[in-house]
Amino acid sequence: MTKISDNLEIIQNKIETAKKKAQMTQDVEIIAVTKQVTVARTTEALEAGLLHLGENRPEGLLTKKGEINNKAIWHYIGSLQTRKVKQVINEIDYLHSLDRMSLAEEINKRAEKPINCFVQANVSGEESKHGLSTEEVIPFIQSLAQYDKIHVVGLMTMAPNTEDEAVIRKVFRDLKNLQTQVIELGLDYAPCKELSMGMSNDYEIAVEEGATFVRIGTALVG
Ligand SMILES: *Cc1c(COP(=O)(O)O)cnc(C)c1O
Repeated sequence: MTKISDNLEIIQNKIETAKKKAQMTQDVEIIAVTKQVTVARTTEALEAGLLHLGENRPEGLLTKKGEINNKAIWHYIGSLQTRKVKQVINEIDYLHSLDRMSLAEEINKRAEKPINCFVQANVSGEESKHGLSTEEVIPFIQSLAQYDKIHVVGLMTMAPNTEDEAVIRKVFRDLKNLQTQVIELGLDYAPCKELSMGMSNDYEIAVEEGATFVRIGTALVG
């Protein structure tokens, strides 16, 4: 296994290069997606200077959180079953997968403080992917006004698993356009400043298109 600090340096350099290439100036936070690695490897990530950790199952999140003493910011990046909300919602700092009203309602019921949520959009329209269709995102966010525990910090998407860079880029660009529309609504519960997009295979494209959080597993801790 390669050292996480070495992987991190490579990734940080690529992010800076991508920003320069696209003349972008946003801050980009790296979320170390630790869903497939041990507690020891996760600790190594924190020691390398990473602060943001991403998990996609309640069990993984709770186990790691229980065993890791370092300060970390916890991101729940997987789809979340309504019946599991109460297990995790007060243990996390960000939820990346808000995609339905029933989930918003349950979060509102269980959360002890406002939760930083990304609304997940299925921009590519692939059937296998979770998330709202592009057309559903704005009405969905408008209807969240009734839930005082939901704070929409941004939008999240996953690009299709393809070699075709143009296809990937279009998905990220569409998400950015959608974000602009949400910001124009001027909703105080949905500032929507962040874009969670980009994984091991496509984070450079995501950064060029405006990502502020990239979720990286394999290339960083794998
Ligand atoms: C697993 C996962 C990632 C990280 O994927 P890699 O290709 O290993 O970087 C990012 N986002 C989500 C939602 C994931 O489930």
